[in-house]
Amino acid sequence: RLDAAAKIANLLGAGLRDEVVQAVDDVSLAVADGEVVGLVGESGCGKSTLGRVVAGVHPATSGTVHFRGREVSALKGPAARDAALKIQMIFQDPMSSLNPRLRVRDIVGEAAVVHGLVGAKEVDDYVAETLQRVGLDPTYMRRYPHQFSGGQRQRIGIARALAVQPEFLVCDESVAALDVSIQAQVLNLFMRLREELSLTYLFISHDLGVVEHLSDRVVIMYLGRVVETAPTEALFDAPNHPYTRALLDEIPRLEARKRRFVPVKGEIPSPIDPPTGCHFHPRCPHATARCAAEQPALREIAPGRWSACHLNDGP
Ligand code: SF4
Ligand code: MG
Repeated sequence: RLDAAAKIANLLGAGLRDEVVQAVDDVSLAVADGEVVGLVGESGCGKSTLGRVVAGVHPATSGTVHFRGREVSALKGPAARDAALKIQMIFQDPMSSLNPRLRVRDIVGEAAVVHGLVGAKEVDDYVAETLQRVGLDPTYMRRYPHQFSGGQRQRIGIARALAVQPEFLVCDESVAALDVSIQAQVLNLFMRLREELSLTYLFISHDLGVVEHLSDRVVIMYLGRVVETAPTEALFDAPNHPYTRALLDEIPRLEARKRRFVPVKGEIPSPIDPPTGCHFHPRCPHATARCAAEQPALREIAPGRWSACHLNDGP
């Protein structure tokens, strides 16, 4: 199943080109076809950078992205174009990613015409269909972005991505800017689209409730490294890594259905000068001298479950 997947391997030092910070440090991540992977972490942990590298919005300074078994950066011509279209990114703030001077028709339809997915004469029908798919009135195509609410604008952003017929969506905090009731609607839309279009998602969020709601598997990042990954239910039932446990412990049990990301005790260290050994050791209640000296490897602790903590080595 993984062979047909969007496979992302060995994103070593996938920092932004003009930043000194190494935002992502030796992260390996594979997303299977049709899977929804939730990527969680505090701000500055590198999850957005990872998402942008995967979506081709930012180049990796080293490391590679593979899509359906092929290294994306090595593709040329139509194959490169095809891969670029198949992986689309949905951003947090739709207003800043929608050109205010363009009508919805052009925002949604332009790339599809340019890439020959629809003829110029059929674009109105194509856009109408795409808008209906995301729950918008097709007549909205004549309007401009400022004439819509935040939730509607996010739907326009989603329609724009869908118009180029993607297979893999990278959603970076795609509902974070919306009111809670609107968030639920947009999350339901994502899930409906997953069914209808067989989409695969990398869903980046700081909100554990959002991630629990829609992910098959969760990946927890801390200061540029993956510290734990597990099927969603297993992770919430029995988190392994002390950082994951700290995240979940701070959520009142009664609030289980509205799990919000509560900051773990202690300052988030600077990603410019991360702590030695296990990056989490200054905040970890179980830290030993070894933790400050030696970086724990991400190891499989049960089938499909990985964690990077010395505690798993046993006594
Ligand atoms: Fe805590 Fe040590 Fe495990 Fe890091 S390796 S999470 S510091 S116990
Ligand atoms: Mg971010």
